[in-house]
Amino acid sequence: MTLEELWQAVLAQIQLNTSPANFATWFAGTKIISKENGAVIVSVLNSFSKEWLEQKYHKEILKILWALDKSVKEVTYKVDSVKIKVKSIPKTEPPDVSVGQLGFLELEIDKETNLNPRYNFENFVVGPFNELATAAATAAIKDPGRIYNPLFIYGRVGLGKTHLLQAMGNEASKIKPQKKIRYIPSEKLISMVVNSIRNHNIEELKSDLRKIDILIVDDVQFFAGKDKTQEEFFHIFNTLYQENKQIVLSSDRSPKAIPAITERLKSRFEGGMVADIGFPDYETRLAILKQKSQEKNADFPVKILEYAATNIQKNIRELESALNRLIVFKKINGKIPTLEETKKLLRNIIVSPSRFTNPSKIIQVINEFYDLDNKNFFYSSRKKEFARPRQLAMYLLRKELNLSFPAIGRKFGGKDHTTVIHACHLIEKEFQENEKFNQEVELILQRVYSA
Ligand code: ADP
Ligand code: MG
Repeated sequence: MTLEELWQAVLAQIQLNTSPANFATWFAGTKIISKENGAVIVSVLNSFSKEWLEQKYHKEILKILWALDKSVKEVTYKVDSVKIKVKSIPKTEPPDVSVGQLGFLELEIDKETNLNPRYNFENFVVGPFNELATAAATAAIKDPGRIYNPLFIYGRVGLGKTHLLQAMGNEASKIKPQKKIRYIPSEKLISMVVNSIRNHNIEELKSDLRKIDILIVDDVQFFAGKDKTQEEFFHIFNTLYQENKQIVLSSDRSPKAIPAITERLKSRFEGGMVADIGFPDYETRLAILKQKSQEKNADFPVKILEYAATNIQKNIRELESALNRLIVFKKINGKIPTLEETKKLLRNIIVSPSRFTNPSKIIQVINEFYDLDNKNFFYSSRKKEFARPRQLAMYLLRKELNLSFPAIGRKFGGKDHTTVIHACHLIEKEFQENEKFNQEVELILQRVYSA
């Protein structure tokens, strides 16, 4: 378990007996910053929550930590004044490689192919929602470069694109060991291009990539607006394509719907097979939960799994984290959660359909959360520490209230609608890259809807 997973497990337990409002107030932005010789240091946002955690939650935190990790002997709390990580560091490893909290071994990522052996076809559940994409993927691997080239797979976040792409790569390296296979998250590709331009060795990079027989590029929606990368990738694409090398791409939307991508690249993306992954149906969701609990050697009554499968519909990663919470509960309490306890445990994953809020509530909560007391700054300052919360506010006004982009712009001192669109885009990107940010927003939303 990573420190982050460990802390997440603790938080999931604490939530059981804490009201959402309290939880958001005291645990927002907390994390474990170190664990050495049994001494855990938890960083908190302000001295307020430090005091509160020390006085009210210390025993419970220690107990849960100890249940999860017997090496833990003490916990201290430290105020961390850097509240917002404004700029996230681009990932150098493929996204989504963190394994489940319990039950999985950390598997090694292959240095050559950049593939994570965790993702394979054996543990990939197929249902109506991903049947076409899976069939295309299997066919493409049997006869790379000949049938579906490129193969473009798209679908919303958490629905198995990375898993499928990596499974293709892993399968290919098994049945076609002589082929040179490479999995590259597009963020990584972008930074490779940028660096090689800076270091004047772009030709080297290109000739390197041209040697690949099966090139898998994940999340190409991030190419949006990256002109230089698009241009170089266009040429790499053409070379590979002409030599019948297999190209596999994924995106969170169809090629047509990716903004700020050149027409010529779009038409390349669309030139082979385009297959989408939709939302899994109930049966498949249940099958996934059953399969994953088996993998993790955890046995839960069907009615518990059914509850999760019924209520978590749009994201397989969330299904997995629901299962992880149940597993952690079982480990700590030595028993299977009841249905009532399950409901509490999964409360903040499951989004209730009738949620009401308004713009000022959202803005106020974000303000409080990031301790931004000066409203004027919030609306107009260019400083980074204000920019990110402001972007988040724009994003949430759009997402939660479905306000139009121009209407949101007006709320923020008459900003142009393109600024708002850009902000939403940045936030979505941050979601993909920054787990901590996801949790922050989760907390913010809890607070928005709790009072
Ligand atoms: P995406 O790349 O579309 O955001 P991922 O491939 O990262 O989604 O999937 C999220 C999580 O759900 C991963 O842990 C993955 O293993 C799991 N998952 C997704 N689809 C399936 C499936 N069909 N069968 C089993 N596990 C799946
Ligand atoms: Mg992915």
